[in-house]
Amino acid sequence: MKYALVTGGSRGIGKAVCIRLASDLNYNLLLNYHSNTAAAEETKSEVEKAGVKCDLLKFDVADHDSTQKTIENWKNENPEAKIEILVNNAGITKDGLFIWTNKESWDSVVDTSLNGFYNVTQTVLKDMLRSRFGRVINIVSLSGLKGNPGQVNYSAAKGAMISATKALAQEIGKRKVTVNAVAPGFIKSEMTSEFDEDELKKLIPLNRFGDPEEVANLVSFLASERSSYITGEVININGGLYS
Ligand code: NAP
Repeated sequence: MKYALVTGGSRGIGKAVCIRLASDLNYNLLLNYHSNTAAAEETKSEVEKAGVKCDLLKFDVADHDSTQKTIENWKNENPEAKIEILVNNAGITKDGLFIWTNKESWDSVVDTSLNGFYNVTQTVLKDMLRSRFGRVINIVSLSGLKGNPGQVNYSAAKGAMISATKALAQEIGKRKVTVNAVAPGFIKSEMTSEFDEDELKKLIPLNRFGDPEEVANLVSFLASERSSYITGEVININGGLYS
């Protein structure tokens, strides 16, 4: 009973990742989401078409206690299940110039991406270390590498996740658990639905936004046995926008 846990798996990149991990690698899915139950149910039925199980886990990754409780309860109810893959994908943006960024906009963005990484990874990592196999894949962003004006909060959260990826990879490599980050540029999803693609694509050498499925292909490779000698890396997927 091998499982992959994908946070923010109901929509966008997370949804495409769930479908890929099920169809490429035959993993059962633990699909976390925050509030959109209809989207989560729809993704679950698409995942199940690959012939695997998909359990929905509703919790806010920013909430330490509820994250820990929900995952621990699920583990107790499924003692034979083993979470081998963790994709820390849940993330939000609250854009605006730093000077106007209030405490709530700062905290919620950092709490979801960075503290979400802590809350979820802490809860599942010990089991990976014990079984001497695991894949942790953190979905970060171009913003976390180059810094993006209007996104100081988001750049800070994703930049910190990149450093955490590199540090954790060095701590646990001996146990054959790898930790990598994927840094997308502009990808079509609800997060970017208000962006002017016709204008922004002029900046992108491949002249278009990426599709969630293209990010999912990379995550699927990193989650597989085929990536066994890659750890502590940040892999860009941005149509040539930045490297
Ligand atoms: P999206 O379409 O807005 O989907 C976000 C997903 O995260 C949804 O499944 C949502 O659940 C979930 N989520 C949000 N807050 C959560 C929380 N507190 N706890 C649990 N789940 C939560 O976003 P996306 O574009 O697919 O982005 C996915 C990841 O890629 C994010 O980390 C984002 O920062 C990163 N990224 C995206 C782009 C891009 O261009 N789209 C570029 C670089 C990086 P509900 O459905 O329940 O709301």
